[in-house]
Formats: sequence, structure tokens, C-alpha cells
Amino acid sequence: MPPRKSKNKTTPSSTFILSAAVVFVTLLTIFSNPAGGGSPLDFLAQGISRAEKFSSSLSNPSNPEGSSSLSGGGSGLGSNTAGQEALTVHFIDVGQADSIFIQSGDHCMLIDAGNNDDGEALVRYLQEQQVERLDYVIGSHPHEDHIGGLDDVINNFAIETILMPPKAHTTKSFEDVIDALEARQLSITFPEPGKTYTLGPAEFTLLGPLKDYEEDLNNWSIALILSNGIHSFFFGGDIEAAAEADILSAYPYGLKTDVLKLSHHGSSTSSSEAFLEALSPSFAVASCGAGNSYGHPHQEVLTALQDRHIQLYRTDRQGTILVTSQDGRLTWQTEKGD
Ligand SMILES: [Zn+2]
Repeated sequence: MPPRKSKNKTTPSSTFILSAAVVFVTLLTIFSNPAGGGSPLDFLAQGISRAEKFSSSLSNPSNPEGSSSLSGGGSGLGSNTAGQEALTVHFIDVGQADSIFIQSGDHCMLIDAGNNDDGEALVRYLQEQQVERLDYVIGSHPHEDHIGGLDDVINNFAIETILMPPKAHTTKSFEDVIDALEARQLSITFPEPGKTYTLGPAEFTLLGPLKDYEEDLNNWSIALILSNGIHSFFFGGDIEAAAEADILSAYPYGLKTDVLKLSHHGSSTSSSEAFLEALSPSFAVASCGAGNSYGHPHQEVLTALQDRHIQLYRTDRQGTILVTSQDGRLTWQTEKGD
């Protein structure tokens, strides 16, 4: 079958370039006192070359680099069959926020870091897991409930690669992250949709952001599928229906996942019928705070999950949630509740 036509045909626009320029000017301003060998201009040049790659991948979202593993359909991404080494995903209870820690063999990554006040507890949690070095850290998008504690993580652990979307934000939380990166001489890698990264015996493929969502920060969230060849997991930060539709258009096949981290804390602005149909997960996880003022997870989403017999785990009731894929089985552990 031919690829579905994208309704949201994406072209690298002047808006994107302007937006990228704003990011770099902001970063350049913040990088007024670079440490060690790198000058602000080096950083800027590096960033521009990455932005060009990002931009070129935007121009052809239906045929992104490294997308071959997406085209085969079947149950998730990846062709390796290593099932012996555990892949464990920790949905850390950070209240009305996201923080997900992933261990795969001797390798690990962190997606988001809770709110500002979660930083110290998150660092302790990672230290309890014997973490000294993180292969990847992803700041899905610049809202405080995702990058708030990221400066503490950057200050306390060695980080190989840090991925964030090319979208700046004028908040202290964002500036704290940039300051911490500067102090550790780390630069941001912008996501290239379709690119696959290895994480021990597992791998993850970036699916978005696929275009310039302007000031709609939620839809700028980095989206990805993680797989060990046996089980797969979708993480999309706070993407809403628009970005979900763009991902469905760009990747009409191969999105089937076993576990869906509900985007935007289970808000009804996300997890559209079409998206749930395409991913067809067996399990969903809502990362949200008890009694949160948004009413997350929303009833519409709960009903949609029930209709599809998707089992829901939620951090507001069960605390930190662990799921492990090993020897062909998924095993769930919750801090509290059932
Ligand atoms: Zn959020």
C-alpha cells in the first residue's frame, strides 16, 4: 500500500528558521561566559549544523533517515531478539509532572525530570539505582513539569547525549537548564525524526516533533518508541491530537506498541481514537498528581481505554510504577495500591 498522504505537509519554513534563530540567539545570550575550550560561536555553529539536519528531515517526514525499521509493521520497532537482558521502565511518581527512567542492560536514559521541586528527590532516586552516567537524557519540551528538575540531573550525573527540541522558553526553569548545560560543557542535540539510537540491547527511534508548532509547546514534545525487539513503549511528552495526527501521517505503519505513556498526563486533548487505534497498546500509564487541578486523567481517555480493554496504571494512585520486559514477559510493580 502506498504511504498515506500527509494532511500536514511539512516544509522547512521561514517560521522554523526564525524559531531556530530565536533559540540560538537565546542560547548565545545565555552562553555569555563559556567554560573551557568551546566558545559561544562554536556552540552556535554546531547548533546550526544540527538545525539544518533537523530542517532537512522535516522536509521529507514520510521517508526519514533510518526509518526502515518502522516500515515493516508487526509488533513494534527493532530487529534484535535479545530478551535475556531486562529492559526496565520506571514511571517515577513526581506528582503532576513526568519523569521516566529506563534501564537496558548496563545502559540507561531519562525522559523528563519532573517539576523544579522534584530535582533533589529525583537525583536521590537515580543514585539509589546506582546511576553514575546517563547515556541519554531527553527534555521532551520546555515546560516546567518536564524540565524543572533537569538542572539537578545535569549537575549530578555524567550525560552522554541530551536531546531537546529546538524551541526555547523564557522561563527561569529553562534558563536554569541552559546554565547547567553550560557549566558542564554540554550541548543540546536536536531530534531528527526517524533516527534510531542504541540503548544497550534495546533501541529507540525518534518520531517527532515533525514540524514547527510555533508557540504550542506541548506539540513540540519529543516523541519516540523504545523497543527491545520483544516489547515496545511509546513516550510522547505532552503531544496533543495535532502532533499525534502528524506522527500517524508520517508513520502509517509500525506504531504498534505494548505500553503507551499517556501524553499530556492523560488529558483528553491527547490519545485520540485514531492514535489509540494505531498504537493498540495493551497497557497505558498516566503520570499525574493526586487531585490535580486539571482533572487528569480525563474521563474521555479513561472511557476510551476501557472500551479498548487497555489496562491503566497511574502514578497518582500507585506511586512509582516499574515495568520490566524480560524473557518475553512484561512484569509490573507498583509502589502502592493495586
Ligand atoms: Zn506536562
